[in-house]
Amino acid sequence: MITVDRVSKQYGKTLAVRDVSFEVDRGEVFVLLGPNGSGKTTILKMLVGLLRPTRGRVLIDKLDMGKVATEARERISYLPQRVLFPETLKSGEVVHFYAQLRGLNSGTGERALREMGMGDVGEKFIGEYSGGMLQRLALAVAFLPKADILIMDEPTVNLDPEGVLQFRRVIRQLREKGKTIVLATHLLSETEAIADRVAVIDEGRLVSLQSIEKMKKAILPTYRFYVTFLELREAWVKVAEENGAKDLLTDSRGFTFSTERIEDRFKILNALVENGAQIERFGTLEPPLEEVYMKILEKSHRGDDVGL
Ligand code: ADP
Ligand code: MG
Repeated sequence: MITVDRVSKQYGKTLAVRDVSFEVDRGEVFVLLGPNGSGKTTILKMLVGLLRPTRGRVLIDKLDMGKVATEARERISYLPQRVLFPETLKSGEVVHFYAQLRGLNSGTGERALREMGMGDVGEKFIGEYSGGMLQRLALAVAFLPKADILIMDEPTVNLDPEGVLQFRRVIRQLREKGKTIVLATHLLSETEAIADRVAVIDEGRLVSLQSIEKMKKAILPTYRFYVTFLELREAWVKVAEENGAKDLLTDSRGFTFSTERIEDRFKILNALVENGAQIERFGTLEPPLEEVYMKILEKSHRGDDVGL
């Protein structure tokens, strides 16, 4: 659906994007994750044809952005990082304007507003909006066209938690309809919640590209589990350690531990039960994505392979 082929972008002396290649499949939610200034916005602008790559090329459905930008652009809806609307307009007027521009009926605009929780602010002028309301309106506009591809730059910045949930719901619906979604964010929580695949960008380079699950597994080979008992006995600590539990930490109800292989947890669990332990709860402690992300960046700075 989208092919980014050895793309670089130079602004004067700044090499903002360095030899980046990736492909996005139809129906996928693809996230560009990276710190501020890493080149995400520049990549998105090249995807939508607002910037020309210094080197390399972008293909949308096999159409070369450098040659047939207008045709390729018709398939895309783009949410820029900063959106400005005239302050003297109201939300209804804005969505009607864009709906007309795209040849859609006016009901489409109202529906998009409702989806983003903007159904009841019709009388307010945009000049009186909070940052969160502006972002909701920008999202409603971006969700308007019947484009196959949505490209969104920091879509949840400024949104309150309810707005974030509404956004995620719309993204899930669009994904179910087979739309292709590319978004840039520096928010790990956002990535974890909606990404199918994640491209980690650092200093203009693609340092990792994989599913979010694989990314966690590649970076953190050891897992942490917790187990709690109806009644904790000292003997079970030893049983767990003899069966492969590492870095075991006890508390009043049970303990947490790591294992080298994910399968080892079953061995430990069985051994505990065989020794008469009455297990109350057992589960995996998810490593925070922040940790994963820092490790990827550390590894990339050292020049290690991070699973590309
Ligand atoms: P991100 O979206 O990841 O925060 P950007 O793509 O906005 O990163 O910026 C990447 C780098 O390119 C930064 O060093 C930024 O200062 C630089 N840059 C972005 N836009 C321009 C521009 N129009 N002119 C010169 N430098 C720019
Ligand atoms: Mg940006």
